[in-house]
Parts: sequence; C-alpha cells; structure tokens
Amino acid sequence: MKAHDGMYIGGAWVPAAGDAGTIEVVNPADEQVIGHVPAGTAEDVDAAVRAARAAFPAWAATPPAERAARIAALRDALAARKDEIAGTVTAELGAPPALAQNVHVGLPIAVAGTYADLAASYAFEEKVGNSTVLLEPVGVVGAITPWNYPLHQIVAKVAPALAAGCTVVLKPAEDTPLTAQLFAEAAHDAGLPAGVFNLVTGLGPVAGQALAEHDGVDLVSFTGSTAVGRKIGAIAGAAVKRVALELGGKSASVILPSADLAKAVNVGIANVMSNSGQTCSAWTRMLVHRDRYDEAVALAAQAVEKYVPGERVGPLVNAKQQERVRGYIEQGVAEGARIVAGGPDVPLDKGFYVRPTVFADVTPGMAIAQEEIFGPVVSILRYEDEEDALRIANGTVYGLAGAVWAGDEAEAVAFARRMETGQVDINGGRFNPLAPFGGYKQSGVGRELGAHGLTEYLQTKSLQF
Ligand code: NAP
Ligand code: MG
Repeated sequence: MKAHDGMYIGGAWVPAAGDAGTIEVVNPADEQVIGHVPAGTAEDVDAAVRAARAAFPAWAATPPAERAARIAALRDALAARKDEIAGTVTAELGAPPALAQNVHVGLPIAVAGTYADLAASYAFEEKVGNSTVLLEPVGVVGAITPWNYPLHQIVAKVAPALAAGCTVVLKPAEDTPLTAQLFAEAAHDAGLPAGVFNLVTGLGPVAGQALAEHDGVDLVSFTGSTAVGRKIGAIAGAAVKRVALELGGKSASVILPSADLAKAVNVGIANVMSNSGQTCSAWTRMLVHRDRYDEAVALAAQAVEKYVPGERVGPLVNAKQQERVRGYIEQGVAEGARIVAGGPDVPLDKGFYVRPTVFADVTPGMAIAQEEIFGPVVSILRYEDEEDALRIANGTVYGLAGAVWAGDEAEAVAFARRMETGQVDINGGRFNPLAPFGGYKQSGVGRELGAHGLTEYLQTKSLQF
C-alpha cells in the first residue's frame, strides 16, 4: 500500500516536526503490516492550525460558487481514485470489496456532490424584518474521525466545512490513515488553496488532543466513542469553542405485531452484519412482540447463516476490538441470554474475525442490551405491548437511530414520533444523504449531512437597518 512519510500541511507533504516515530498500519484480515505513517505531535498540529488560520480569510471571502466548484472538483478527484480508495479501505479496515466500493467509497462521493450543490445554492444571507442576517463561517475546524467508515467520516466533516468557508485540520483514526492520505491527495488535485485542508496523522491522546485543545481551532468536530467525546466536549466547553459530537448508539428495530416479520428480521440482520457491525447507527436491538417472538428468533438464526466470516463479513478493525466484542458475547452468556447463532470462539485462525452472533432471551437491563458492542452481534428482546416496546426502545443512554416496522405506515410513524432518537427508518426506508444525521441524548451534539450539517459550520451576524 502507498503511504506518505509526512503530513499534508499548507498544500504540501512535509516531514513530521518531532521524532515520535511511526504508526504501523495492519490489515485486519491477515494481520500483515501494510504500511507506516508518521505519528504526529503537538508541533505538527500547531503547524497545521497555523496554515489553516492563514488560509481562512481568503477562503471565507471566496464566493460560494467558487467554493462549490472546488468541492465538485474534490468529488471528481475522489471518483477518479475510486478503485484505489476501495482497495485501501479493504486493506486497512478489512471491508469486503463490494462493500468498500458501494458504501465506503460510493457514499462519500455522493455526499461530496451534495455539498458542491449546497455551496452553490445555499442562502448565506437572510432578511428578518429590519435586519439582514449574514451566515458566516465559524473559522478553523479541528476534525477528529474514527476508522469505521474512514472516508465517509472525513467527507461528512470536511465537505460542509469547506462549503461554509471554513478551513480544516484533520486527525484521522490511527487504524485507517492511508484512506485519509488518499483524501488529502484528492483535495490537492481539486485545487483547494494551500492551507484550506490539512492532515496530521497521529495518536488520539497526542495529536487528537492537541488539536482539540489548540487555541487556533474555533470548532471541534468529533466522531467516535462516547468516552472520548465527553473529554472533547469538556475541552471545548472550558475554551468556549464550538463542538459537534457524533457518538455511540444502541439503536432499536421495533417490529410491531402487524409487520411483515420475515422482511423486518432479514433487513434487521443485514443492517447489523454490514461492516461487521461497526456502524454507530446499527439496529443492534431487535424488539419483537411475545406472540411472534419464537418465530422471529428462528428467522434470525436462519438469516445470519449466510453471513460467513471471511466472505460476506469482514474482520473487526483490530485485535482490541475483536477481544472487546468477544468479551461482550461472553458477558451475554454469563448474564443468561441464549445464543441462537454464533458465539465467542474465533471463527478463523488468522485475522480479527468474530462469529456473527444472535442472542435471544435478552432482557433490557443486560449489558448486551445497554452498551455499544460495535461488532456483528444482535440482541432480540421480547415486549408485551406497544407501551412496553417504547419503554425498552427508549431505555438506553443513547438515541442515534432506529427502525419501526408495521403493516400500516401511519402506525409506524405514530410510534417513531415517540422514539427518543435522531433518525428512524420506516418499514426499511432508504438511507438519505441529505437527511440530518446525529443523536439524541448521549449519542451526541449537532447534526451532519445535508443543509443541517452545513449550518454547524456557520455562525450568524445580524445587521439592523
Ligand atoms: P475513539 O478512541 O473514540 O476514536 C475516535 C477518534 O478519536 C480517533 O481518531 C482517535 O484516535 C481519537 N481520539 C482518541 N482519544 C482521543 C483523545 N483523548 N483526544 C482526542 N482524540 C482522541 O474510538 P475507538 O477507540 O477507535 O473505538 C472504541 C469504541 O468507540 C468502539 O468500540 C465503538 O463503540 C465506538 N466508536 C464509535 C464510532 C461512531 O461512529 N460513533 C466510531 C468508532 C468507534 P486513535 O485512532 O488514535 O485512537
Ligand atoms: Mg482509540
């Protein structure tokens, strides 16, 4: 795999400032080292923030139509590298090739396109009575991203920031820095002015923390674990700077008694197995009425059979995540849940694989029903009636996503209105890259994607006449 031995700062690849060594990039499917990237320090972060600050006034003053043209060029530069990026995502994350092409690369290209359109069409000025309200860029953005959708998480922050007129310093996940380097190459080829986008690879507690703490950063946009999100929020709060947090989830797929059970179960299993369960919005809890419970469990056990590790299901990203997920499976057994498919044993002798696992007889208080597992594990819970289903669905600290299945769309919508969560798919509704994405409760602060995602990077100035 191609790896740059430097940071992308001020429009060029520059050597790391310090002497903090390198980060090994490992292929989680075969455990081979595929490359090294420099481990950045506070000095690299400082250089990148300075470059972003220097570039900010001119980029903020660039007409939105010209910013739109650069974002369109960025989309095209990503599309030109489609195969290379997909191969890199497969190599450093372990995503099966079809998933890498269609989702890991296809989705962010589409999202970049939506921001090229939005930058060109958005009203960055509005009239309110005797006032004109200007929507101005917040400034320098510090973006900290996770490994689960390496390119998408970057584009979902950088594209709206650029559309708004902000400049960016990105610290990508240590497990997936090669995809981030390809993004930087695309940003360079798109003709973004020097310093508008900058990349510092490095470790979270070193480079990530230095970025969140830097005085020259006006907004920190973070996606990842709730534990780290809480720290970032505290740092931003102390410095009175803007912060956006996309955190964990424990979403429920609620199958109401009138639903097409087979469809709901099959789509629900597919939703969790995709990306080896490493999706913050995955419906890891399946809620089924007691009269249809046994039928649902049998359907789920059957549905999961086609998700064969090493074929349709990739590995987890690293050994630590593999151990963490296996630990949760063991904990589920210890708590009295019943395994109907999968289990804690390792399915292949190489790679960080976990067996796709379905638990029945899960009760709402169990750890496997409360905590984000981030692996191919589904818990099926039994409910008595609709009120009980709602209590269970809303009974976690999270509120990122969910699904409702019912014979009648209006019935599903009535239930969805009462869910404490940021997005709900009705009877298998399709993902919409223009719809706001983000969490209620401890799933986060702020929204990404579409026009709502753009406004996160804007602040208002009112002129009175
Ligand atoms: P994480 O530690 O929260 O990582 C997310 C990003 O934050 C990475 O770039 C990480 O760098 C960085 N980071 C870590 N500590 C930091 C700090 N003190 N200050 C600033 N930045 C810091 O997540 P993880 O360890 O990769 O995964 C752990 C769990 O998080 C998963 O099991 C899952 O439950 C959850 N998760 C959620 C999402 C989501 O989309 N909501 C995505 C991934 C993971 P490093 O890469 O160097 O650690
Ligand atoms: Mg980490």
